Amino acid sequence: MEPKFCLTCGSVLEKRDMDGTLRMACTACSFVHWGNYSVGVGALVVKEEKVLLVRRAQEPGKGYWTNPGGYIEQQELIHETIQREVKEEAGIDAVVRSVVAVRDQPRFIHNVYIAFSMDYVAGEPTPDGFEVDAAGFFSLEEMGEMNVAGFTKWLVNIALEPQHSAGLKPDLEPIVQLDGYGLFRV
Ligand SMILES: [Zn+2]
Repeated sequence: MEPKFCLTCGSVLEKRDMDGTLRMACTACSFVHWGNYSVGVGALVVKEEKVLLVRRAQEPGKGYWTNPGGYIEQQELIHETIQREVKEEAGIDAVVRSVVAVRDQPRFIHNVYIAFSMDYVAGEPTPDGFEVDAAGFFSLEEMGEMNVAGFTKWLVNIALEPQHSAGLKPDLEPIVQLDGYGLFRV
């Protein structure tokens, strides 16, 4: 589904050839609808070989354990977003160390997810009671008994690697089946 009216001036949009691609463009001003995109950010906070996880209290993914995260805001730096999300969802103060993974998911709303390695600073895991209903640091062994989301398992594997500042590389053989994802990792 494409927009019919300009987001800037409200005039009718028309299909226009932009360098070989048909896009919806305004008939009255310079607005062009380039597409629908969203960007997610995720936190990998490791403390004594354990990774911070939260249990989702809402759909999608209700009941699954994931790493804390959320969508970026229009006017907020992404490293600030993830630090805020970790504090809000899990009650933990943590600071960003590096970007350790990227997920590319082209679809109706093209989503790009950026995962951060973060250093624990302070706080006890405390769920916000709204988005998540449980929070804690867990070892791989403990996660074996938990309902951990597939994508979170992939991130946890990176978080527990000793050399996750090496840089981003395509992951052509991810440890978890994740159809339709473009995966990059250190
Ligand atoms: Zn317009």
